[in-house]
Amino acid sequence: MTGHEVVVVGGGCVGVSTARHLARRGVDVAVVEKEYALAQHQSGRNSGVLHPGFNYEPGTLKARFAVEGTRRMKTYCAERGVPVDECGVLVVAQNDDETDRLYDLKEQADENGAEARIVDGDFLKEREPHAEGVAALHAPGAASVDSRKYVHALAGDAEADGAGFYMGHEVSDATRDGDGWRVRTDKGELDAEYVVNAAGLYADTLARKMGAPTKHRVVPFRGEYYELEPDATDLCRTMIYPTPDPELPFLGVHYTRRTDGKVIVGPNAVLAFGREAYTNRSVSFRELFGTLSYTGFWRLISSRKMLGVAWDELNKSYRKSRFVKAAQRLVPEATADDFARSYAGVRAQLVSPDGELVKQPLVEHAEASTHVLNAVSPGLTCSLPFGEHLANEAEERL
Ligand SMILES: Cc1cc2nc3c(=O)[nH]c(=O)nc-3n(C[C@H](O)[C@H](O)[C@H](O)COP(=O)(O)OP(=O)(O)OC[C@H]3O[C@@H](n4cnc5c(N)ncnc54)[C@H](O)[C@@H]3O)c2cc1C
Repeated sequence: MTGHEVVVVGGGCVGVSTARHLARRGVDVAVVEKEYALAQHQSGRNSGVLHPGFNYEPGTLKARFAVEGTRRMKTYCAERGVPVDECGVLVVAQNDDETDRLYDLKEQADENGAEARIVDGDFLKEREPHAEGVAALHAPGAASVDSRKYVHALAGDAEADGAGFYMGHEVSDATRDGDGWRVRTDKGELDAEYVVNAAGLYADTLARKMGAPTKHRVVPFRGEYYELEPDATDLCRTMIYPTPDPELPFLGVHYTRRTDGKVIVGPNAVLAFGREAYTNRSVSFRELFGTLSYTGFWRLISSRKMLGVAWDELNKSYRKSRFVKAAQRLVPEATADDFARSYAGVRAQLVSPDGELVKQPLVEHAEASTHVLNAVSPGLTCSLPFGEHLANEAEERL
């Protein structure tokens, strides 16, 4: 049996960033990942946007991590040759109410120290000739990044500093063994003095198996994307977002120019019938039962507003015309023929027993372990400071 000071479960951006920070300090750390490649779930199936911090409540951990994370990730990616396109984002308002909300975002940006300004429709047309709106918030610090290459770069650094990687090892559970842990995988056991659970969509399940007191549960929400056909990619030059609804955790269908030149449109947000259910035909009955038997889920969808949103999002999933209609709100010239189905990701949305969507990063500590229960979006943007924070916690508690 092999042993390590720290075992990190999960080879996404949070787990690998934590391992990289620990390895750098000389800690004997290993990442255990059930897939044979890194970043196969949320960290490789997202919009790849560095969110510079205008959309987050000032003074929160999320705001601090997003601002710092954007800055640090740009530097890191430049040093390590990871593709980044610092194209900025335009958050578009269609009416006076939305314009008022842009001013709220601008205030938040100022408080958070993120660069942003309100621009008029002419500026919008100059930057994005096909976008329609009366005003926009321009945040030049937003960028597009290749998230898989980023995670691989982090892993390369961690490995160079001595971190181990157990790929294709699925952790079934872990039990206390003296002061540490015996971590069981489908390919054998590992000893650890400390465990960092960064298992993303399964973090709450593993936390409970390890005896952590969490009452929250992950409810999986799939985000589906279309992409613009190659001859239509001129419809979006940078990134075009709708004005967000402050009550919802999801940003709404938006346009993102990726570092490979593709323009992706989405994601929507629809209940997934399994934690890794990437299509609307894919079902895990056990996991679906887990969601449907959770009172927090029913409390969440019991509000009129959430029911309306859920219905709308479901329609966008099953009917292309509904998705296209949402996208046309930002770019009216786009036609259904311009959109081709693309990939999907599943968000690990943590929901409290009283039906609240947990909007801040949430970490729970238990005996010789740290459980990352909510690496909520923009978890990719936040991953450098978040991983460092987790490494600090693990090192202090070792
Ligand atoms: C559709 C979508 C769009 C998004 N867009 C953005 C964006 O534009 N910008 C941004 O900053 N953030 C974005 N996010 C959020 C961001 O992707 C996540 O917050 C982040 O990737 C979470 O990383 P993670 O390491 O916690 O989880 P994951 O990437 O899911 O990693 C967890 C890992 O744990 C492994 N694992 C699970 N169970 C076990 C087990 N039992 N044994 C071993 N391994 C296990 C999994 O295989 C997985 O590799 C988006 C997310 C989604 C889904």
